[in-house]
Amino acid sequence: MTTIAIPEDSLFGLSNLPYGVFSTPGTAPRVGVRVADHVVDLAAALGDEVFARPSLNAFMAQGHERWRQVRERVTELVSRDVPDTAVHRVSDVTLQLPVEVGDYVDFYASEHHATNVGRLFRPDADPLMPNWKHLPVGYHGRAGTVIVSGTDIVRPRGQRKAPDDAAPAFGPSRRLDIEAELGFVVGADSALGTGVSVDDFAEHVFGAVLLNDWSARDIQAWEYVPLGPFLGKSFATSISPWVVPLLALEGARVRGPVQEPQVLPYLRESSPWGLDIDLCVEWNGQEVARPGYREMYWSPAQMLAHMTVNGASTRCGDLYGSGTVSGAGKDQRGSFLELTWSGAEPVELKGERRTFLEDGDEVVISATAPAADGGRIGFGEVAGRILPAREGDR
Ligand code: MN
Repeated sequence: MTTIAIPEDSLFGLSNLPYGVFSTPGTAPRVGVRVADHVVDLAAALGDEVFARPSLNAFMAQGHERWRQVRERVTELVSRDVPDTAVHRVSDVTLQLPVEVGDYVDFYASEHHATNVGRLFRPDADPLMPNWKHLPVGYHGRAGTVIVSGTDIVRPRGQRKAPDDAAPAFGPSRRLDIEAELGFVVGADSALGTGVSVDDFAEHVFGAVLLNDWSARDIQAWEYVPLGPFLGKSFATSISPWVVPLLALEGARVRGPVQEPQVLPYLRESSPWGLDIDLCVEWNGQEVARPGYREMYWSPAQMLAHMTVNGASTRCGDLYGSGTVSGAGKDQRGSFLELTWSGAEPVELKGERRTFLEDGDEVVISATAPAADGGRIGFGEVAGRILPAREGDR
């Protein structure tokens, strides 16, 4: 038996217990829980087949009562001794995509981000569209290209056309960017024709991950009117390997910004789901932004209620992104588009002036939040490195 030593300042103590999917050399992927610098193999520790699967979906499908019970069991288990065969060092395992992603939606919930982008993309108009404070704006994205942290990103190619160009050209994106976001993993199905109430959020959403919505701004700018993002976004969306349970985020709950004008009744929360989460964006090892999630205008409960209010159903494994997390400060902007003001104000990076991503660049987004017991919990990180565009074709 092994007693897992948990340092007092660990971001992965008993108040966190995030779930992931891992493998060790020669073994099949299965569900584990992170405790300090270790991974506890839940199939081995609890003897339950539902954890001997290559994704969290089967466990999530068992529903929120079960999520609570398993969290209690795991807390009890790791507070005492764990069978040796069920404990691995996190440095010895390979972390996999934790969820078989169903549908994927990305929102646009930061007022600071939407205002910045509005100013950059539509300088002569109101930065916020007339609907923005009445509904959480979003679009349906591509679930099949949601990938786990550490997967390389091949620079996308496509059509781009600057306003002054006579005709579009084809080639590798020259304005490849990031969007630092939170992603919410839906665990419970909802029935077609019904909506999920804002107050039922915690019964439907299993947990949260870090998400990087890689964005090719030049492709996006040329294609997005009138139907929204398409190939400028769909080539890759990275998520962190650890899913922090919603049950671990009770200590991070805050009331978000005042919503004025008042929102329609279906978007009014009786108990708010703003989240006090600190994000950090590192570009080639240098910290370039610290966006705070607490400033997000729309809560994830409002996003889910809006996404289903027309009767659209959810499935276990659905994922929705918050949209870029940007705060009021210049050093709190969660995209390079905003940080460099569309390239006009380069960032000083190890002696170089940089605007968008170059081949070989690496971006790491991490986050922490207050825990209910007074400590802090960590989300780990979502990382990705840019590879050169493929050659050939035309
Ligand atoms: Mn996005």
